[in-house]
Amino acid sequence: MSAERSFHMTPDEFRRYGYAVVDWIADYYKRIESFPVLSRVEPGQIRAALPPQPPTYGEPFEAMLKDVEELILPGLTHWQSPNFFAFFPANASAPAILGELLSAGLGVQGMLWATSPACTELETHVLDWLVDMLALPDKFKSTGSGGGVIQDSASSASLCALLAARERATGYRTNAHGCDGRLVAYASSQTHSSIEKAVKIAGLGRENLRIIEVDEKYAMRPEALARQIAEDKRAGLVPCFVCATVGTTSSNALDPLPEIGQICQQEGVWLHVDAAMCGTAALCPEFRYIHNGLELADSYCFNPHKWMFTNFDCDCFYVADRATLINTLSVLPEYLRNKATESGAVIDYRDWQIPLGRRFRALKLWFVIRHYGVEGLRYHIRRHVELAHAFASWVEADDRFELAAPVPLNLVCFRHKGGDEANLKLMERLNRSGELYLTHTRLGERIVLRFCVGQTNTERRHVERAWSMIQSMADEW
Ligand SMILES: *Cc1c(COP(=O)(O)O)cnc(C)c1O
Repeated sequence: MSAERSFHMTPDEFRRYGYAVVDWIADYYKRIESFPVLSRVEPGQIRAALPPQPPTYGEPFEAMLKDVEELILPGLTHWQSPNFFAFFPANASAPAILGELLSAGLGVQGMLWATSPACTELETHVLDWLVDMLALPDKFKSTGSGGGVIQDSASSASLCALLAARERATGYRTNAHGCDGRLVAYASSQTHSSIEKAVKIAGLGRENLRIIEVDEKYAMRPEALARQIAEDKRAGLVPCFVCATVGTTSSNALDPLPEIGQICQQEGVWLHVDAAMCGTAALCPEFRYIHNGLELADSYCFNPHKWMFTNFDCDCFYVADRATLINTLSVLPEYLRNKATESGAVIDYRDWQIPLGRRFRALKLWFVIRHYGVEGLRYHIRRHVELAHAFASWVEADDRFELAAPVPLNLVCFRHKGGDEANLKLMERLNRSGELYLTHTRLGERIVLRFCVGQTNTERRHVERAWSMIQSMADEW
């Protein structure tokens, strides 16, 4: 073997196979409705089809693409199917996919401003755009004392918020000496499980997470929050963090931000607002009421990777006071020292997140916003909400079914009146059909089916067909 020999793909091969992959993806979207939405493989089935050993010698690219088709496709649940109504959307779009490809192609690592100024500055710029696009409070803009950053997920954003809250409450003593067991955090019984995880990771201890009760609409009761904070203070504890949710995962409930925010201000407690899926709705002026009271929050996050056509991962995390976040997370070893950082004139996003390294995620977000324009995004969000509301009206008109929670936006919680068992069997039958995928939750004591509209290519015909399948299977259990 000569010293010149390389195993790399040549630029011309890359071009050829790159076109083939793009063709494959375009064809995938064309035929996506022909696959069962929920994968039918058994545990271990995919691994059993894969060779036990890695190849000693490189293989042709065609073989890989063929295996994607034959071995991988059957093991996929098709999140991009227009018949996907489960959990929450993770909707992708062509401009996002191309932005992601460019990000991979450029391969930059944006941990510091200096390691790729465009990676940082585009991110700051697009996140400031989004403050205007969603009409968020101006204090979240980088031009003031706050700013936004892209995180991998709402879970990470909430963890960063909790860590900053912890340090603010203890004058950075927890960073220095560790937790003393007196810090307390608050969330409702409907809050996403990522908050409990964050409380565990941040060292507060799960027993120092107070679960606040909800009202009949599954929204946090502010008076219960105030009562619990007062009780904890009397016991010598230190309330430091409240998470309020705009659009809870189970039922899309909207916690009352003005009342919760006022309590947090009075008590000096950090308010984090988690709007992972529903924040996107604020693109449309008629839905901006969901953020009433957000001006009282210390931090906020929403996920373009859920409902804004930006493929996973992309969470936008905002803080009102970036200094607290940066002081919480910053460490500066010698090997990262550089003039730009020392000048104080730049943002180093490594100090705004848990990992050091970071991808160039702003590209895909920038592409999505530029491709659709604000009006294009609004158009699709409005269609989704209209479809969810149409579905809800059909549920209401069928006396075998009932709505199980209010439907403010794109999620319908409903149930067959025949009881928990009936609903679970109905869901299983529907999902086994492969024609659609929906999931369930528990609200109060009852099992409830969730129908979430938000896939990029979901149209009225998909929702109509889903409802007619639900109706026709409703009596088969
Ligand atoms: C989906 C969801 C999350 C978790 O989002 P990740 O980005 O996957 O961490 C958190 N909170 C709410 C309200 C959600 O809907």
